[in-house]
Amino acid sequence: MSPSPIQAFLDRDLIPPLADQDEIRLLCLQPGVTGDKIVCTTQHVKLSTNPQYEALSYVWGSKDMRPITLNSYPWEVRENLFDALINLRHETKPRILWIDAICIKQDDVKERNHQVSRMGTIYSKASKVVAWLGLANEFTVEALGHLEKFEEEEAPKIICSSSLVFKNELAGTEAGHRILEGVRLISLRSYWTRLWIIQELQLASDADIQCGRNCVPWEVFKAFFMDLEPEEPYYPVFSALGEDEKHVSPLSNLIWEAWSRDDSPSVRNSQYLSHLCFSFRKSQCEKAIDKILGLWSLAPVCCQDGVPVDYDLGVDQVLGKIFGHEVGAHDTPSRYLDRDEGVDRLRKLIFESWSHWTELERTWRQVEEDMAAYDLLLTSLDELV
Ligand SMILES: [Zn+2]
Repeated sequence: MSPSPIQAFLDRDLIPPLADQDEIRLLCLQPGVTGDKIVCTTQHVKLSTNPQYEALSYVWGSKDMRPITLNSYPWEVRENLFDALINLRHETKPRILWIDAICIKQDDVKERNHQVSRMGTIYSKASKVVAWLGLANEFTVEALGHLEKFEEEEAPKIICSSSLVFKNELAGTEAGHRILEGVRLISLRSYWTRLWIIQELQLASDADIQCGRNCVPWEVFKAFFMDLEPEEPYYPVFSALGEDEKHVSPLSNLIWEAWSRDDSPSVRNSQYLSHLCFSFRKSQCEKAIDKILGLWSLAPVCCQDGVPVDYDLGVDQVLGKIFGHEVGAHDTPSRYLDRDEGVDRLRKLIFESWSHWTELERTWRQVEEDMAAYDLLLTSLDELV
């Protein structure tokens, strides 16, 4: 049996190994027009020399493979990445990208571990992060087409231009409904449910969201979504996501989180690792431990120091470290629990369902109330002495 194109490629070792810990692989996407084959080459650069590249943020998605040419040989990529390459390709000039599936040798465990630990740096050093949401449909074209007319604006603004124009000129019209439907469909894309995209977007110095050929600055999309959400006439669009879902939908969370970070450095520092894990508990990742470590780059330094990244630890060991850190460094109700109970609570908070949370929330509040009563008792005893 003849080897598959991928095996033939690996056998020839046509992706050269990285020379040292500072080196990363970049992808050069050759120019082309509709109908041309996708042609790419890889190149090595030192991250410390601040190379110019854009980093792709996307979901791997279905395992259906599509053919491309990589370093002059046949290669295969998953369908969603193939669609991204087709739509991101420039007509006349190459585009330099960092894309995990190609720039990290997926069959080299040692390289993979090291590169994964550097992903926060890779995304934060990219000149731009491009969030690929998938192929367009008629509604997404109208929604993003509306937003493409607007530039990024200086924050803070009471209301952004795109939503102002929408409310004054488009709300209630057929075109307005189609735009809202497009925003709703975009907010339901599987892209938003992937846990790793949170750090990829939050750490980006600049980001665009792209759906098909439409490309909008993340800041513009975020501002429009924020302005729209609480307004009564538009509310049904978001309540279509379901009342509970609306409040924990990954896109809503991501936008609120990003907004509170932009708004105030003190808020940024109060988003403890445990809070982040809880906020994004609905996001999906392949390994349970990534539900915690995938958010580590966004946590304040105290939490990073208190809970170092260590893939050799099990989930409960990492939860134990979080609990220990919470008790030692943060003023949270968890200080009243013993370690096993604390780990158990954290595990439920982060890994169990939304319905479970309402019950847990009550329990936590009870602990706080009990302790407040206890503190009051101690104070009054002090006064008696
Ligand atoms: Zn901390």
